[in-house]
Amino acid sequence: MLSSSLYPDGFTFPFAFKACASVRDIGLTRLVHGQAAVLSLSRDGLVGTALVSAYARCCAPEDATKVFDEMCRRDGVAWTALVSAYSMNGWADEAFEAFGKMMGLGCVVDSVTLSSLLLACTRDLWRACRVHAFVAKAGFECYASVCNSLIDAYAKCGAYDEAMRVFRSQSFTKDVVSWNTVIAGLALNKQSDKALAVYEEMTGEGVKPNRITLLSLLPACGEFGCSKTAKIVHESFANDAWFDVEADVVVATALIHMHAKCGNVELARDLFEKLERSKRNVVSWRAMIAGYEHGFMPEESLKLFDRMVEEGDSKPNSVTIVSALSACAQLGVLQRGRMIHGYAEANGLDLDPTVASALIDMYGKCGDMGMAREIFSKMAIGKRTIVSWTSMMGIEGLHGHGMQAVELFNAMIGHGVRPNEVTFVCVLSACSHSGLVDDGWNCFDSMIKDHGIEPNARHYSCMVDLLGRAGRLEEAHKLIMSMAIEPDACVWGALLGACRLHGEIGLGELAQAKLFSLNTDGIGHQVLLATMYASAGKWDDVIRTRVQLKHKGAKKIAGLSFIEIGSKLHAFIVEDRSHPDSDRIYRELEALDRKVTNLGYIPDTSSVVLDMEECLKRQVLKYHSERLAMAFGILRTGSSEPIRITKNLRICGDCHVYTKFVSKVTGRELIIRDARRFHHFKDGLCSCSDYW
Ligand code: ZN
Ligand code: ZN
Repeated sequence: MLSSSLYPDGFTFPFAFKACASVRDIGLTRLVHGQAAVLSLSRDGLVGTALVSAYARCCAPEDATKVFDEMCRRDGVAWTALVSAYSMNGWADEAFEAFGKMMGLGCVVDSVTLSSLLLACTRDLWRACRVHAFVAKAGFECYASVCNSLIDAYAKCGAYDEAMRVFRSQSFTKDVVSWNTVIAGLALNKQSDKALAVYEEMTGEGVKPNRITLLSLLPACGEFGCSKTAKIVHESFANDAWFDVEADVVVATALIHMHAKCGNVELARDLFEKLERSKRNVVSWRAMIAGYEHGFMPEESLKLFDRMVEEGDSKPNSVTIVSALSACAQLGVLQRGRMIHGYAEANGLDLDPTVASALIDMYGKCGDMGMAREIFSKMAIGKRTIVSWTSMMGIEGLHGHGMQAVELFNAMIGHGVRPNEVTFVCVLSACSHSGLVDDGWNCFDSMIKDHGIEPNARHYSCMVDLLGRAGRLEEAHKLIMSMAIEPDACVWGALLGACRLHGEIGLGELAQAKLFSLNTDGIGHQVLLATMYASAGKWDDVIRTRVQLKHKGAKKIAGLSFIEIGSKLHAFIVEDRSHPDSDRIYRELEALDRKVTNLGYIPDTSSVVLDMEECLKRQVLKYHSERLAMAFGILRTGSSEPIRITKNLRICGDCHVYTKFVSKVTGRELIIRDARRFHHFKDGLCSCSDYW
């Protein structure tokens, strides 16, 4: 138009600005603004109003204000555009000020003005109530658009009951937006069951849900964690002809996310694979990688990360890298972790504080404390977040460096970072792993006194664990009795564990009775009790406990040990003969057994629960998964390399003794991470000093 020397007029510009607003391009808006100014049209009411709206959409409320101030005529529509520009960009005070001026000038307020104003109330319940009162007085309660904005504002202020009341009022005719808004509001307030109920009501009344309904509802299903509901909701959409789930990456991603959260990993994977390759974006990759991680499938999660890098259509960002690192940490695979670290470095993401914290966690959990500490100390103090401090404390604790964890805690306070509940769990459990009773008590006291954090059940169970392990069982029991909140299964479980450690049967039975009355599945605890009876030789009680276990349909969780050779992960279970190198592994174990027996190793069968013949018990012990992994590690790694093993359960007392002997006869360093902590075996000793 311009090139054919036809000049735009006051009617053309509003359309041009509308186009600028729809693409949210500030550069383009400024360019067209310049042209309008040259033709002295930017001060015109119609053009100016369109320009205010365009700048608002481009997140430039300052520019919008300037244009508005220069306009020669300002009617209600222009004022509404200004109110909307402010509220859209989070300038709530300015929005209310503009509304006040507009009322003072006697401009016409319409439903659009009120909806815009309500957008500025999303964090201020008092203002939302005031606008609601105005809406009622001025007779706007029959406008669906205004009521929908009211529902939205109330829900975003956390007042979902008020939102529901507006929704239920008979004053207006509900449209699909009203249903969507109330569902989204309930989901936002974690009222998942209510959100699902409203959805059912909606379909029951014959209102056709749309894409927005689905996107509002899915987080609620995920939150609900109910795989059945998730499937029903998914099907109700997938069966609809108008809806092509696989073509809509946003919806598909939300579905993947929901299914993964509900434990339907298969369905999530199915959707992900069906999504066209060109349509997958970084968010859908991330949802699937995190989904695997969430479903405790860290290996799958890592495989998918590799595929993402390989296919190269979308690049991993810091969030994806954090997920992948956390999968490495779960598996204890150092080589893979290092590779991802290399990738992060090459893409300049390693300095991102969340990535750095994940790196610290990964290196720590894979047993490389040197690297973990290096990354932490290289982080500028101002960049260290509560997560980085807490990760560092957590892994120091995991390695049995309780003092270091306490020092870090004090340093963190010194730098003015406020500890949170997780921080205290980390410090207290670090104290517990190192037997630092006094430091533990100090932290526990300061938590309430200095930081105003009420201890929760996890903090109490750490303290009970700490006291119990140190043999102060009565003190631990007293602490439980003094608890302000109801002690849960973890607290009693910690006491039971300590009773098992010290052979304290009386208090152990009390703890067990409490666990029973709490009606938790408590399978782990029953196993503990059985082990306690077993080491005291009380076989009748063992049988009784095992029968109870059987009634509950419990299968004892299988012990698994992992070892990474090269970048391949090998897993072993007890008496495993499935590995291709099985023969060599068993021969190596025989040889090790001879060497350690010569040095004085005697198997301690008291931790085997089964009441079987001594020689059979020895047989079971001999092939515990960590021993198979150990023999394999000795065969397949260079003699100067430490052997790193990850175990999903706690290492048993006998394997602990055995590994100490192995470290002596082979001269190798063995690092075992069990379900609770790290054990560094060297020269016949363990870093935990037999305290675990
Ligand atoms: Zn063992
Ligand atoms: Zn140890």
